[in-house]
Formats: sequence, structure tokens, C-alpha cells
Amino acid sequence: MAIIGIDLGTTNSVVAALDGGQPWVIPDDDDELLLPSCVGLDNNGQLLVGAYALRQYASAPERTIKSIKRHMGTDFQAVLGDQTYSPQAISAMILRTLKAEAEKVLEEPITQAVITVPAYFTDAQRQATKEAGEIAGLEVLQILNEPTAAALVFENRSEEGETVLVYDLGGGTFDVSIVDITGDVTEVLASHGNNRLGGDDFDRQLQRHLTDKFQQVHGEALPDDPAIEARLLRAAEAAKIELSEHGFVTVREPFLVSQGSTALHLETEIARDDFEHLISPMLKETLAAIDRALSDASMAGDDLDRIVLVGGSTRIPLVQRLVQNHLPGVPLSSFEPDLCVAMGAAVQAGVLSGAEIESILVDVVPHSLGIAAMMDVGMGIPMPGMFSTIIPRNTVIPTSRSEIYTTSSNNQEKVEIDVYQGENAIAKENVPLGSFMVEGLPPKPAGAIQVEVSFDFDINGILTVTATEKGAGQQNSLVVSDADTGRLSSSELVQAKESLDQLFDLSEGSLMAALAAADEEE
Ligand code: AMP
Repeated sequence: MAIIGIDLGTTNSVVAALDGGQPWVIPDDDDELLLPSCVGLDNNGQLLVGAYALRQYASAPERTIKSIKRHMGTDFQAVLGDQTYSPQAISAMILRTLKAEAEKVLEEPITQAVITVPAYFTDAQRQATKEAGEIAGLEVLQILNEPTAAALVFENRSEEGETVLVYDLGGGTFDVSIVDITGDVTEVLASHGNNRLGGDDFDRQLQRHLTDKFQQVHGEALPDDPAIEARLLRAAEAAKIELSEHGFVTVREPFLVSQGSTALHLETEIARDDFEHLISPMLKETLAAIDRALSDASMAGDDLDRIVLVGGSTRIPLVQRLVQNHLPGVPLSSFEPDLCVAMGAAVQAGVLSGAEIESILVDVVPHSLGIAAMMDVGMGIPMPGMFSTIIPRNTVIPTSRSEIYTTSSNNQEKVEIDVYQGENAIAKENVPLGSFMVEGLPPKPAGAIQVEVSFDFDINGILTVTATEKGAGQQNSLVVSDADTGRLSSSELVQAKESLDQLFDLSEGSLMAALAAADEEE
């Protein structure tokens, strides 16, 4: 049975499979390879996924959801019609659509998948992605980092080994990873990025530029209207894409605002230079991330054999130019920047299903993981609330590490374990992952009780924390269960799956009715 590879993107999603050892992207009924990661309800309350949903975004933004990936792992509630949905449930609608496309083309039921996420995704975001798969009826065999997936496609199997910098700038996220490929082993040496930076931000910059132009031309500000905003955002994205090919683009948005009996239009020309000026501060940030990844890997630009560009936004000429100027002399390659992540996921799916691909994947922890603890910061004075790292950033996964901590006061009855991820020496400045107590400690002087804190980071990038009191035969241990904000309980998962099934049945029913009506008309 085939296992599919899915790139669940902020802007677009892609499904791929392996055929004869080669990955290929599965097209939809209209032969499209990219499914816009957009979900909506039409006038009649029927579910729309992909291009159909995206098309109504401008006219019905209140019934349409875009970029849900940015909310994964949070308790954000998306409103669609009179219902609210978790980010997992919305993502599941996209996954379910991709699964159906794959089943149609491959002519077999699909129940298992490898899904990619940005290397910089937190534990909660990865867990939410797994849950989305589950709601969509897919067992997620592995959550794979996107740059790692891309490197799998580009793999050069020479025995000498290659060090590749994967620069991935998509719609909503940016990642840079340094990947070492030697023979069959792919190892991520370092990974860095920003999961809130991408083409969507460039669209918004350009949208603001268009709004300013309107005010300059007409002498008045555009009204605060979500439909107008959505229209301008769509125009901005189209202009941006055209500017990758041409030096100038003309944006025409007729009848943007009506003023009594007259209508106000927007017609303006944008030069590529203007656009480059708008986005270059954001791109500079990506160059700093390259330097940080190189320094984490203890490397210089000269140590790189290749740069691989991934993500739709790397089609922007300025991106290519800046990256190349930043790393002069390193060959730059790009292959289907929108598709290669899904293709790499399909390669990994093939590996998991025992297909004829010999590849071993080594991945790393994207952030340091640890707990808040009382620590000596160098002046002989122990300070509370310091960040004690248990698994350092860029440790190869899966990994298990533990540290021993002791009580700090006499007759201390309990110890609170606050788990964080990040690089700051002050625990609170990092991202909290959750906390729990080890209680019922026997009365002993300060420092006499030892608590072992173990961190297990699995192949999917999911963390389990256990704390055990090393006492006179007495052991307390707890697993962090509330580490993940927005995590769904198993009954919530079942419920989400049932309501998704119902939505899809309804929409298939209405599709059938529409098709039947069309047949009658013919
Ligand atoms: P991805 O997340 O990899 O699918 O990338 C999607 C992002 O790439 C969106 O922001 C698109 O607007 C952007 N994109 C796609 N094609 C181009 C292009 N030719 N020029 C500039 N941006 C593009």
C-alpha cells in the first residue's frame, strides 16, 4: 500500500508519491499540482477547499480561512459560518482533500503519510500537525523537516559527501538548514529560521503600498473594508509574481470604492526596484539567519558545496541575488522550488515502506530544551529562574538526555518542573512548553533529595519529559501532558474527525447534486 508524502504549506500544499524509486507530484482533477491551503464555506454553507475557497476569499473573507499553518499548535479558533474549528481541524480539511486526490490517481485507499513541517516548528506545532493527519484519517508515520525533505530530492550520492545550505522561503515561513550528505546518510548539521516570515509578508507590504498610492491619487484614505483589503492583497500577490519576470507591472483595480454615483479606481505602476526596496529589510533578516546557521555548524561559507533554494518566494530575483552575493562562489541550484519538499517527503515515505531507496536520515533538535532551575551564574550566588539546558540545540535526534537536580530548601515537599525551549539564559525569556509537579517528597535538608529530569525527543520532534525522585526506594515520575497549547484530547479528535466526515459527505453530496443538475441542463 502506498504511503504518500505531504508538504502541508502555509500557502500551498502538495502531495507526492514514489513510483519506480522516483518521487512525483500527484495532480488534482484540473491537473494542478499545488492545492492552495485555503478552506471556506460557499453561500450555501458547503465546504470549499483549495482554489475554490481561495477564489471567494476576496468577496467573502469572513467565510474563508487562509494561512492556518501560522496558528498550528495554538488554541486559536477559526470561525467558519456558525461553527468554530481548531487549526488541526482546518488543516485536516486540506489533508483530507490531498488524500482523496491521491486515492483517485493511485486507485487505492491511502491511510499513511509522511508530513513535512518547518525545521523551526515547536513541539506543539508538530503535535498539532500529527493530530491534523489523524483527523483526516491518515496515520502520520513521520513528521519530517522541510529542508531535510528538500535535501533528499537533491541528494547527490557521491561517496565524497556534500555540504548543502537549504534556503527555504515559502509563503509563511523561512528556514535555513545546513545539511551534510555523505553516501546514504543525510544529516542536518544546523537549522535556523523564522516561522513568521514569507511571501505573505511581501504581499502585505505591497498591499500597503497600493493603499498609500490610492490615497495619493484620490486624496482620501481607503475605507476600512475587509473585502477591499482582500482584493488589494490578491492584486499585490499577482503583482509580486509578475515582478519576478518583469521590471514593471501595472495594477488595475477598477471600482474599488463607490462615492455616490462615482466610482474610484486604482491604477498604478510598480517598478521591481520599488518592490525590492519594500522587502529588502525582511530579506536581510534571512541573511543573518544564514550566518547564524553557519556559525552553529562551525562552518564558513567556503565550506559549502551548494546552495539549494526551496519555496515559491525564492523565485524572486532579489532573493537569488542576495543569497548568491552573501555566499559568493557557492553554486546555487533550484529545482521546482514549490514541489521539492513534497517530493522529498515521498522519498522518505518510500524509505519507510521499504521501497528500493537507500537513505538514512539524521535530523537535529531545532531549539535547546531545558527547565528553569536555580543556578550559579558565576558570582557564587545561585540565581532562581535560570535556563538549564538538557538537550542542546542541533543535537541529532532521536535523543534522550537527563540531568540530576537537588532540592534548594529544607523539608521541601515538592519540585516544580517548568519546561522551556530557546536559547536565552533566563528561563522566562524562552518559549514555555508546560510544567508539572513532583510532589510528596520526604522531609530532608536542602540538597539531600535528587530529582532526575529526563527529556526524550523522538523522530517526529516531539518531546516527553519525565521527572523521577531518586529517594529511598520511592519514585515519583510524571510525564508532561499539557506541554502543548491547543492540543486536542482523544475525544476532541474523534469529534473533529466525525464532523469533518460529515462536512465532506455534505459537500460531496452537493457536488453530486450540482453535477446531476448540470447533466440535466445539457
Ligand atoms: P510555498 O509556500 O513554497 O508554496 O510558496 C508560496 C509563496 O511563494 C507565496 O507567497 C507565493 O506568492 C510565492 N510565489 C510563488 N511563485 C512566485 C513567483 N514567481 N515570484 C514571487 N513569489 C512567488
